Amino acid sequence: MDWSAPIRGCTKTYRKRTVVRGVVRNDRVNRVEREVVVRGIGRCLPWSLGSRSIASLSSLPETHQMLHKTCRDFAESELKPLAAKFDREHLYPKEQIRKMGELGLMAVDVPEKLGGTGLDYLAYAIAMEEISRGCASAGVIMSVNNSLYLGPILKFGTDKQKESFIRPFVTGERVGCFALSEPGNGSDAGAASTVARLSDAGWTLTGTKSWITNGYEAEASIVFATTDKSKKHKGISAFIVPQPIAGLSLGKKEDKLGIRASSTCSLIFEDCNIPKDNLLGEPGLGFKIAMITLDAGRIGIASQALGIAQAALDTAVEYAAKRNAFGSPILKLQAIQAKIADMALRIESARLLTWRAAALKDAGKSFTKEAAMAKLAASETATFSAHQCIQVLGGMGYVTEMPAERHYRDARITEIYEGTSEIQRLIIASNIIKEYGLN
Ligand SMILES: Cc1cc2nc3c(=O)[nH]c(=O)nc-3n(C[C@H](O)[C@H](O)[C@H](O)COP(=O)(O)OP(=O)(O)OC[C@H]3O[C@@H](n4cnc5c(N)ncnc54)[C@H](O)[C@@H]3O)c2cc1C
Repeated sequence: MDWSAPIRGCTKTYRKRTVVRGVVRNDRVNRVEREVVVRGIGRCLPWSLGSRSIASLSSLPETHQMLHKTCRDFAESELKPLAAKFDREHLYPKEQIRKMGELGLMAVDVPEKLGGTGLDYLAYAIAMEEISRGCASAGVIMSVNNSLYLGPILKFGTDKQKESFIRPFVTGERVGCFALSEPGNGSDAGAASTVARLSDAGWTLTGTKSWITNGYEAEASIVFATTDKSKKHKGISAFIVPQPIAGLSLGKKEDKLGIRASSTCSLIFEDCNIPKDNLLGEPGLGFKIAMITLDAGRIGIASQALGIAQAALDTAVEYAAKRNAFGSPILKLQAIQAKIADMALRIESARLLTWRAAALKDAGKSFTKEAAMAKLAASETATFSAHQCIQVLGGMGYVTEMPAERHYRDARITEIYEGTSEIQRLIIASNIIKEYGLN
């Protein structure tokens, strides 16, 4: 596909490469839509966007619909044809991530004044799903840069930190990462054993962070380290660490079940010195920053899971329409139709939960429980749909010639990172108990 061609259906002629930003900046109608997105949402109900419903794509503002189409076209032409090769060869999709940066997808909700696209989280969720539908690895790379790296700097960073660590990371040329987990603690993130000591020269970090997505490519990371052990999780602080830097080495690239085109590795800090100014927020605020960041990140992972689930449904339907058994396409068999119905039902339910969580965040309301529900529902839907997809394809579902087995492998991680399904259930239950006034 020619990405320099004008966009169809646009009131003016824009170049595809600037569609997301172009829509926001140039088009009068869409500027009005953006007002609805950015301002109107503040006074709306969680399931509506101003006077619009979020129950279906066609009821969303034109900006969101165009973003959806742009991302879908991009994923179909630039990601889907290469996703199997990226997966097989553990290949970081550098060129594709750069193009996603050109489209504004690497900093979707970062304000335009910092070089971002200036859209809302609902737009981000829509874009994440479409990108992940084409390639789940590209999805997680985008998700980590948007939600886990840029997100906390945008919320807690100083103006100087935003200039130095946001602006260069919006174009897809550079990506960031988020380093919370350690070899000894994942779910129990408050037990960080990495430490940071303050001296006249700045902060000195020592310890190992494990499972860090984008670790190999990242040019900066948000690192969580204990600055006051006596205060337990309230003694954890967050730091921005530029990479590469003396005192930081990378562990081996993990050989993973899925999302194999994204890198995952340990960050090993041995007396790594960073300037005093690289503390993010206040000392002791690190755990809170991590939890707030993960709340938003879960909307991204829910969207990634939806993209995988939708890709599995697409594969199952397309195959079932062509595969004949007992004299007719298997799509005509009610047993196959029941699987397709169950997949579609779960996908649409999880999508509504995901869009609701995004709309609540955009409205400045509490969304911790809703993001956990969205992530739980969408990730279990992804695993379910990919499982059913393999079943619909029979033997062809089990081999790498078809994408079904990759969807199955990619789906599985969405139930683990940014909080396992068990942890999402704990978050949901603790919020429900609070709502009953029983905490
Ligand atoms: C591919 C990949 C990419 C990742 N990317 C990142 C990243 O970029 N940055 C980062 O910081 N981390 C990252 N992680 C780490 C990930 O977030 C953790 O693996 C996850 O939080 C689970 O932690 P754990 O592996 O230590 O499992 P554990 O915490 O040891 O859990 C093991 C099992 O016990 C269960 N369990 C634990 N506590 C409870 C409880 N209280 N109640 C019920 N069940 C419980 C868990 O649900 C799980 O089933 C990544 C992991 C992977 C595999």
